[in-house]
Amino acid sequence: MEHPDCLFCKILNKEIPANIIYEDDFVIAFDDIYPKAPIHKLIIPKKHIATLNELSPKEETLVGHMVYVAAQLAKKFEINESGYRTLLNCNQDGGQMVFHIHLHLLGGRSLLWPPG
Ligand code: 5GP
Ligand code: ZN
Repeated sequence: MEHPDCLFCKILNKEIPANIIYEDDFVIAFDDIYPKAPIHKLIIPKKHIATLNELSPKEETLVGHMVYVAAQLAKKFEINESGYRTLLNCNQDGGQMVFHIHLHLLGGRSLLWPPG
């Protein structure tokens, strides 16, 4: 299941520390180490999936669960009313740096649109 060279698998295995704010059977969520907004959390599946291109049909519910967890965390960190952004980057043009899919949850300031 896990990938030996994957940074986020190492966070999952507690080989690398992270401030984990949520965990269930399918996902964990933790603070982004270089936050791009006052609230910047990452929600990752426990299953190693390198990019969105590797998603299989049976993982549709898993990605839906990641979005649901992000919405619950937005409430917990009180950015649900002011607003927030969730996003999944894919490969080079999408700005993906870590090849284990992760949903960004960003909020606490007005975010620019469109992105650069
Ligand atoms: P990407 O660019 O792949 O969509 O997002 C990767 C995110 O992971 C970035 O926002 C980056 O700041 C974050 N990140 C990179 N290395 C670490 C780390 O070691 N720990 C944590 N908590 N976040 C990391
Ligand atoms: Zn991984």
